[in-house]
Amino acid sequence: MSDYHPKRIEAKWQARWAEAGVFRVGDAPPAGGRFYALEMLPYPSGRIHMGHVRNYSIGDAVARFQRMRGATVLHVLGWDAFGLPAENAAIQNGEPPRAWTLRNIDAMRGQLQRLGIGYDWEREIATCAPEYYRWNQWMFLKMLERGIAYRARRNLNWCASCGTVLANEQVVAGRCWRCDNPVTRREFDQWFLRITDYAQELLDGIDELPAWPERVRTMQRHWIGRSEGARVRFPVEGLDLAIEVFTTRIDTIFGATYLALAVEHPQLAALAAGTPEDGAVRGFVEEQAARSVEDRFEDAAEKVGVFTGRHAINPFSGERLPIWAANFVLMDVGTGAIMSVPAHDERDFAFARRYGLPVRPVIRPEDGRPLDAAAMTAAFPEDGVLHDSGEWSGLSSTEARKRLAAHAGAAGLGEATVAYRLKDWGISRQRYWGTPIPVVHCERDGIVPVPEAELPVLLPDEAPLTGEGGSPLARLPSFVATTCPACGGPARRETDTMDTFVDSCWYYFRYCDPANGEAPFSWEKAAPWFPVALYIGGIEHATMHLIYTRFWTRVMRDLGLVGIDEPVARLFTQGMVIKDGAKMSKSKGNVVDPDAMIDRYGADTTRLFSLFAAPPERDLDWSDAGIEGCFRFLGRLWRAFARALGHLPGPDAPAPPEASQGRARALRRKTHQTVRRVTDDLGPRMHLNTPVAAVMELLNDAAPIVQSDAPSPGEAWSLREAFEVIARVLSPLAPHVAEELWEMLGHAPFVALASWPEADPLLLEEDVALLVVQVNGKVRGKVEVPRGLDESAALAAARADRNVAAHLEGKAVRKTVYVADRLLNVVAS
Ligand SMILES: [Zn+2]
Ligand SMILES: [Zn+2]
Repeated sequence: MSDYHPKRIEAKWQARWAEAGVFRVGDAPPAGGRFYALEMLPYPSGRIHMGHVRNYSIGDAVARFQRMRGATVLHVLGWDAFGLPAENAAIQNGEPPRAWTLRNIDAMRGQLQRLGIGYDWEREIATCAPEYYRWNQWMFLKMLERGIAYRARRNLNWCASCGTVLANEQVVAGRCWRCDNPVTRREFDQWFLRITDYAQELLDGIDELPAWPERVRTMQRHWIGRSEGARVRFPVEGLDLAIEVFTTRIDTIFGATYLALAVEHPQLAALAAGTPEDGAVRGFVEEQAARSVEDRFEDAAEKVGVFTGRHAINPFSGERLPIWAANFVLMDVGTGAIMSVPAHDERDFAFARRYGLPVRPVIRPEDGRPLDAAAMTAAFPEDGVLHDSGEWSGLSSTEARKRLAAHAGAAGLGEATVAYRLKDWGISRQRYWGTPIPVVHCERDGIVPVPEAELPVLLPDEAPLTGEGGSPLARLPSFVATTCPACGGPARRETDTMDTFVDSCWYYFRYCDPANGEAPFSWEKAAPWFPVALYIGGIEHATMHLIYTRFWTRVMRDLGLVGIDEPVARLFTQGMVIKDGAKMSKSKGNVVDPDAMIDRYGADTTRLFSLFAAPPERDLDWSDAGIEGCFRFLGRLWRAFARALGHLPGPDAPAPPEASQGRARALRRKTHQTVRRVTDDLGPRMHLNTPVAAVMELLNDAAPIVQSDAPSPGEAWSLREAFEVIARVLSPLAPHVAEELWEMLGHAPFVALASWPEADPLLLEEDVALLVVQVNGKVRGKVEVPRGLDESAALAAARADRNVAAHLEGKAVRKTVYVADRLLNVVAS
């Protein structure tokens, strides 16, 4: 009792919460509204790290706060349980991925329970469970039916180290999002989801997400990358083909001096064939293909290329333009071919100067002279007025874009179009530990979907994992060999598995109805929880998971599974946990183990520090002194309760009149100010770091009464009030010690279910007023003074202000105008 021993209290309260089902969400309709607090589900690597502790402490603080405010709160955790590390671990130590994963889940669940995070564990899911992934397969079949899922041969991102292809979203600055190895390109047959069908809707939807961080919204807009422009076909001289280019600047088409194609452009080989340049072109393509995507994406990289030996005809001017292959043209953008206008595009300009290609200005600045090609040292990329552009000369760029695109359409040369940077989502992975793609390949019938009644296509418990390339399932004859559902003849199962980002697209819908065996979930059960009130996760998911899940929700809408477009009302991106200036990582040797912190300081201190040390959206710099300070604070709080408890009136004692006087009144004011401040901070503002400081301040203000051996009845009463507030407002932040303090105060459990305190506006009022001081009619200071101060005392208080004093220096006061508690105007000369 006399000292704070977290070990003695934390396990006790965790067991009591579980026994009483404090965090269980029943099916009964709630009286006080609903709140869906969601944290991104973790990958079960085996150990939680400080980033997890921070993420879940933030989520739990908000969830517990909302519960005390009267909402019915859904707060659940699941496991993003498929993925590469399980497979790599199996290759290293022979443990099957399923066993490894389930063991890790058990370990991490145990850690989170030791942290006292208030989850409804009865709704926990793991995406590697057949009861879950069968619905990935089911939705895939629905998408196949509707043409949203399709198979195609494409040049794709290849991570040699992960031994699999990657979606564009999973390539970060040319490197693999998971292992940071450079990504190269390879050609594959693979499964795609037609996310591009939803590109415009995903873009427009961003406007409906005001409670998402602006940074994420901007990243998504940029990723979707809408550009309005035109497609124009340039016939190739001497061949029966045309190169289709996409341009956003058709107004500059008379300034085009060459065409440039990406090295993966499908027509490139046909163009060069039979020309003297054929060998050079092939050499260039091979050399570029061998380079990593990162090298080629690098803006600063040297722009290099090779002439194909062919010319195309500019359909507007009739001019012959040489066709080049160039490293700065990307197959992923537009059509993979561009018309190069060196005078008006930086990259085209650099390339033209390097290879001595002509630079021809056709746009002059508004109110300016035409540019001099020979003197130009950089392109002029802005809009202006057209010249040397045939009948379109004299038009503004904006007007010319409209008219030229219309002309291209009318004359059959091309058409106005919209292009997106977003590409269809490639979901095939040549790995074992994922959802099997539910189709078979039949010699006679081609690709045949597995009938719904035969789902799930079970992932075999084991497969030959060698670490060599190719799908491990393909080496498992018992899996591959099957019969064709269409003709009954022999067929091969698809051996690629789904990208694990499929699993995380819809898991939080499943939390609402986790045991459903008839459907992914019942919308009737899920609808009341949507959109998610608060979704917390790292910024790194801005263009992967958070775009995929918005897409998937719309697909589910179109399948009639949900009645919403946007799944998440508010997104919150928490900062990282860093130490010594770097993200915690094994390789840097700066990892702080949460278990070690819980062992040493307890879960409450660990949680408190991870909330207190920085605003939640910022990076948190780990500090041993900081966590030590949080531990000492809880100890001080504990001892204050222990010392004063004997003096306090009973829990239901009415306030004695003395509680509104002197020290008692001052403490009550501070208590109610604390309530107001903490309530604001834990609400939509999410200033989760400041409530701890507010409680510390309140405890400091209570100290004189705590230390007093004989507090007056009024003081004792106001101290009880302060303690009750502390126990309650601390509950979202340090929930175990809050329960214990609540019990010490004579309350029945649980403070987690107690109502949130309300601030009394009458008690908030200060006994001081803020006096505005003017000197000769100009505001020179604002001075805090006791209410009801007389005029001469007010003038003395004003003179004590440095700035006021400076303005009165050397002057005599002629007159004062005084409005008590509000204004003092000093006339001086
Ligand atoms: Zn990789
Ligand atoms: Zn067949």
